[in-house]
Amino acid sequence: MHALKQANGKVYLIGAGPGDPELLTLKAARILRAADVVLVDDLVDRRILAHARAGARVIEVGKRGGCKSTPQAFIEKLMVRFARRGASVARLKGGDPFIFGRGGEEMEALRAAGVPFEVISGITAGIAVPAALGIPLTHRDAARAVTFVTGHTRDGRGPDWGALRATGTTLVVYMGVKRVAALVAGMLDAGFPADTPACAVQNGTLESQSELVTTLARLPAAVADSGIGSPAVLVIGAVVRLARRGAARAARRAA
Ligand code: SAH
Repeated sequence: MHALKQANGKVYLIGAGPGDPELLTLKAARILRAADVVLVDDLVDRRILAHARAGARVIEVGKRGGCKSTPQAFIEKLMVRFARRGASVARLKGGDPFIFGRGGEEMEALRAAGVPFEVISGITAGIAVPAALGIPLTHRDAARAVTFVTGHTRDGRGPDWGALRATGTTLVVYMGVKRVAALVAGMLDAGFPADTPACAVQNGTLESQSELVTTLARLPAAVADSGIGSPAVLVIGAVVRLARRGAARAARRAA
């Protein structure tokens, strides 16, 4: 019996969606209902844990930049250890596990350990958060491509803004709100027009959502004045013109 259970251990790298707990996939909810262990990041809305069964062991492994943190290597060890004991492990991550979520690193660790795993995609913040403002990331008249970039890299180097400007892509910047001044300076240096529409959205899709819509040149000052902080995405490009200011909030009030 024990040996049989051991063979059934598996890790599910699950995307919990961008914030709103209803933006979770049916598959994620089904796997959560059966999981023995749930390892949850701090960006995941706690209402999602309502899908876990009563007896499941829930372990918080949040690691906000700079604060109290669970080292990545320890999280990976935990997943491997529980799976080897035969547990069904749900590793719940914000948004999509493979978009700036270290899901790739966790998958590599599981592969190296020979632990079976499955990836359950989630709706990434970079798609759902702009949508909450009525911003389509592509539009036949305004943007033929979209690029997700991180504002926070290991080596401190930003993307090649000149190349991005040349392609006319909508830019969605994750983890960029703290470094918004440096990021915008880089874009303006690379020739992005100062009046390119730009917005910042904190806690997108949640009741606590706050947003501002402005131009690229004014974005740093607008962010500072508004008090918008992490977690936030920045969206830069012509499609931001379609944002309905306050629309998301109005829609929630009406609901
Ligand atoms: N894997 C996640 C991203 C993790 S990186 C995903 O696919 O969404 C964390 C960054 O995601 C934050 O710094 C922020 O830029 C963005 N983010 C996540 N949730 C957000 C939300 N509800 N509103 C705005 N930005 C969010």
